[in-house]
Amino acid sequence: MNTNKYAADRFHMVQYQLVGRGIQDERVLKVMSEVPRHVFVPESYRYAAYEDCPLPIGEGQTISQPYMVAIMTQCLELEGKEKILEIGTGSGYQAAILSRLADRVYTIERHEVLALRTRAILKETGYNNVEVITGDGSLGLPDNAPFQGIIVTACAPHIPKSLLDQLEIGGRLVIPTGNPYNQVLHQIIKLEKGTEDRSVLECAFVPLIGKEGWKME
Ligand code: SAH
Repeated sequence: MNTNKYAADRFHMVQYQLVGRGIQDERVLKVMSEVPRHVFVPESYRYAAYEDCPLPIGEGQTISQPYMVAIMTQCLELEGKEKILEIGTGSGYQAAILSRLADRVYTIERHEVLALRTRAILKETGYNNVEVITGDGSLGLPDNAPFQGIIVTACAPHIPKSLLDQLEIGGRLVIPTGNPYNQVLHQIIKLEKGTEDRSVLECAFVPLIGKEGWKME
């Protein structure tokens, strides 16, 4: 498939899947119309890279549906100067989007194989303000805290306390919680005292596995 075909598919993705469903943040729309999603998808699925669905990326994991990437990114309300933490690097597509909208991105992946592959792709494609870390992201990255935004792209049983602790006041935590059958995406804003918790939509993510996530494999 040639570059023009991918560009045309990407244009349609943005118009029909994102604008058509109410994504309004112009910066998010612009970046998603530029970042080559197909580069982050395994070769055998590239033909479907811009379709309205998640796709397998190996290790039983998935790259999220484009609309889910867009709405989660929009919920971070980025302006460009932020230091962001992503939990669940996976394919690296979400990290690449964030890297164009924030100053610095740290992203944690528990599967070494995915972390290695994604680190190489991000380097090759020039997303130089992203650092991929291998480990359990449910505990966050205390040494680099506080973050102005934290995004979790796997489903947690509850809001991990470590992540709230590492969020700056006024910062946003975007995270799905629930069980395999019933999940809600939250936008949590950290206040001087406590948090404001907005339910954004119902969703379906792979489990967040770790100390502050699900315990089993
Ligand atoms: N943001 C990704 C979506 C990947 S799916 C993308 O753009 O492609 C979620 C990922 O979270 C999986 O790769 C899974 O291995 C990872 N994951 C699950 N629990 C984790 C944990 N505790 N720490 C880090 N990564 C985790």
